[in-house]
Amino acid sequence: MRVAVIGAGSVGVASAWWLRQAGFDVTVIDRQSQVAQDSTRLGGGLISVGQARPWARPSAPWQLIAGLFQDHAPIMFRPRIDPQQWSWGAAFLWQCLPSKTYTNILNMVRLAEYSKNLTHQLGTALGIQYQYRPCGVLSLYRHHKDLAQAEHTLDRLRDLGIDRRLLSTEEVIELEPSLAHSATSIIGGDYTSQDAVGDAYLFTRQLAQHAHDAGVHFLYQTTVTRLLCQHGAVQGLEVKTADGDYESLHFDLYVIALGAESGLLLRQAGLPFHLYPVKGYTASFELTDPDQAPEVGVYDPALRLSFARLGDQLRVSGFAELSGFNRSLNDYRCQLIVDHAKRHFGACIHPEKGRFWTGLRSATPANVPLIGRTAIKNLYINTGHSNLGWTMSVGSARLLADVMAQQPPELDFPYLR
Ligand SMILES: Cc1cc2nc3c(=O)[nH]c(=O)nc-3n(C[C@H](O)[C@H](O)[C@H](O)COP(=O)(O)OP(=O)(O)OC[C@H]3O[C@@H](n4cnc5c(N)ncnc54)[C@H](O)[C@@H]3O)c2cc1C
Repeated sequence: MRVAVIGAGSVGVASAWWLRQAGFDVTVIDRQSQVAQDSTRLGGGLISVGQARPWARPSAPWQLIAGLFQDHAPIMFRPRIDPQQWSWGAAFLWQCLPSKTYTNILNMVRLAEYSKNLTHQLGTALGIQYQYRPCGVLSLYRHHKDLAQAEHTLDRLRDLGIDRRLLSTEEVIELEPSLAHSATSIIGGDYTSQDAVGDAYLFTRQLAQHAHDAGVHFLYQTTVTRLLCQHGAVQGLEVKTADGDYESLHFDLYVIALGAESGLLLRQAGLPFHLYPVKGYTASFELTDPDQAPEVGVYDPALRLSFARLGDQLRVSGFAELSGFNRSLNDYRCQLIVDHAKRHFGACIHPEKGRFWTGLRSATPANVPLIGRTAIKNLYINTGHSNLGWTMSVGSARLLADVMAQQPPELDFPYLR
């Protein structure tokens, strides 16, 4: 069976790998000239089960309303004349019901845990070097209401078997001494010891090379402009080549792994999934004094900023902006990142020498990805991983390959059928 995997980010490349392992003849198609040039390029680097919490929770509507008027809000909704944005927003509000939030946490945690372990196993088996450090992720609390909310979530995570424990300020500093100078503003923390950090870009590039060696074909500089559908099946792809010519390509099965742009092709084919791009920022700082750099991954929920040491860099990541496909850098937000990087880890970086980047996360209203077969019988999807796309990519790819190979997947998950 010939399969086209459309999109060569971390999700598409991992899907290609597992599909090839399952015996499919796989071609990966991407508009860029190499793999991982889009949202996989410079993400936050956390491989985290502890962060598997949906944005949609009972408190989220108020945060969104507050975000309308504050440029520093971690979640920012910029209303547009865009029916997709409004219908996604309505579905998001529905997911904020407490009962929905709990189910979404359950599905995210299970997938993140499964995928995190599989990423490590695959990386080890193939000898992939990706700045992997199983250092755990520490969340810092500076407001009592955030700490109270964390205690509530912790109980649920513990029920699911995740080792996440609450820490006093002293324990936070003992675990991460580089935070000692911010101790007065920290009222506590929690720590997920089994979490890790690693570079999605390095992992994906090397996995692509292994996939290529195993027989996967890669077709670059090829933009898929349309799914050619007839009689309830995809008959082919209309593509634009590097020369600007339009051609059609034909396969037996098709996988959409286009990250934030997945919704565009799906809607054009009459499949109105709720997928919306959510812009995030990262800044990469060279480490000037590695001895002062954080040993663990750090997350500050009040700002929704994460800090990960990746090799000789500190990667700071955060913000969630619902403003369409706009990828522009906002100077004010870049400055906020600099200020917070300086406040927490100013001793190990040159704060004024950050390299800034924005990327679009592919988000479903529930933050639970879409994995499985669509109503079009030979069309499958693997997208909507939101803020944990790197953490979940290897696992969701394996599950998709199992579904396509008609093998029972290892995980209980709400697959599309
Ligand atoms: C700021 C930020 C921080 C993040 N931090 C973390 C983190 O700490 N931990 C974590 O787990 N996850 C994180 N993520 C999420 C993670 O980076 C991605 O979700 C993940 O890499 C999955 O990417 P993907 O393969 O779905 O999409 P992408 O990497 O965007 O890949 C999609 C591919 O599709 C191609 N494409 C698009 N349209 C077409 C077309 N029409 N034809 C052909 N090709 C096309 C693109 O060129 C691209 O290569 C972060 C994301 C952002 C934006």
